[in-house]
Amino acid sequence: IQISNDTLKEHLKKTFGFSQFRGEQEAIIQNTLQGNNSFVLMPTGAGKSLCYQLPAIVMPGTAIVISPLIALMKNQVDQMIAFGVNAQFLNSSLTRSEMNRVKNEVLSGDVKLLYIAPESLNKQENLNFLQQANISFVAIDEAHCISEWGHDFRPEYRKIRAIIESVDEKLPIIALTATATPKVQLDIQKTLNLEDAKVFKSSFNRKNLYYEIRSKKDIDKQLIRYIKSHSGKAGIIYCLSRKRVEEIADLLHVNGIKALPYHAGLDPAIRMANQESFLNEEVEVMVATIAFGMGIDKPDVRFVIHYDAPKSLEGYYQETGRAGRDSLDGTCILFYTYDDILKLDKFNKDKAVSEKENAKLLLAEMVYYANLGVCRRKQLLNYFGEYMAENCGFCDNCLHPTPTFKAEREVVLVLQA
Ligand code: ADP
Ligand code: MG
Repeated sequence: IQISNDTLKEHLKKTFGFSQFRGEQEAIIQNTLQGNNSFVLMPTGAGKSLCYQLPAIVMPGTAIVISPLIALMKNQVDQMIAFGVNAQFLNSSLTRSEMNRVKNEVLSGDVKLLYIAPESLNKQENLNFLQQANISFVAIDEAHCISEWGHDFRPEYRKIRAIIESVDEKLPIIALTATATPKVQLDIQKTLNLEDAKVFKSSFNRKNLYYEIRSKKDIDKQLIRYIKSHSGKAGIIYCLSRKRVEEIADLLHVNGIKALPYHAGLDPAIRMANQESFLNEEVEVMVATIAFGMGIDKPDVRFVIHYDAPKSLEGYYQETGRAGRDSLDGTCILFYTYDDILKLDKFNKDKAVSEKENAKLLLAEMVYYANLGVCRRKQLLNYFGEYMAENCGFCDNCLHPTPTFKAEREVVLVLQA
């Protein structure tokens, strides 16, 4: 359909309260309106949701948004409803009668955005329902879930393209992700049959994030001191294990810091409640495993701390990306010790050979990142295939230069272990 850029801007202002599009948002929206497929690669916090929310509002019919997590859907639906847009979701958290109500509302034409979990999409009854509905286009959020090379692989994502085609093969598709390693990108385009899609890729430089690596010596003291000196600010602390999450949440609690745990072992109701408390600012700190965060839109997270080393630079980049989504400064501190790398390497011991080799390479990248005296941002962007000519001036290595620690020996150790 034809909609002028001026009209789009009016909708942007009226519904979302924003006066300018960010980056390529407008071109991406126009591409969907014109009935073309799009592949959007933008870092976390860049504003990908708007690229399907706005066209959903202006196009007749209901846009389908495929989204991997219940929490993520709820977050976005709540937001859209607050903006006065009729959005609904279909997932396993609904009772049968709630599902029927949602479907009837969609069929009556009142719903602008319908969020669906990929496993719900697979059900025959839902397929029949979608075939009857008036669908404007399909958005596939967190599209990297389709790739085994990504960090959140969901097997159900592999079936998406076939399902969309059985609903209506002419529907425009927009796939979105913050994962931009060339391997994952290729995998997504191939599996979704999106080789023809227009690719919109923006820089992965998060200029407002400060990257820092610290030694793990006296980590608990360092942690408490940091949080206390940033009291009133929201932050996330990522730990490797559920047990550690519980321990650190307790530790902070007894030190008078308002913190709650989040991990997949918690009762879903408690997990949801803890997340809500964090989003509503009843607590300041979320202590979590990486189960927490994908797609969560809390704009004012001021720090992300890694208590343990992450499995890959990709994961590290995604997790730190949850800081500073409002464009104000965010601090990313990684507490590093080589022992963590060895521990992570041990977790892989039962994997297939090729998988194990891959995991080792990712760990080796992590070791280099933690030890090199080179601008951290340069290293991170390099990992995503971007080249930065100048040092950033906003990371620990730029502000407090230290000689590069020759990490070769450690890297070799990981690779040969
Ligand atoms: P992501 O790319 O990670 O999915 P989101 O879609 O969650 O990012 O958007 C991140 C934040 O940016 C949100 O708070 C959103 O409201 C805000 N945002 C998106 N587009 C604009 C815009 N054009 N102007 C101002 N803020 C925007
Ligand atoms: Mg998003």
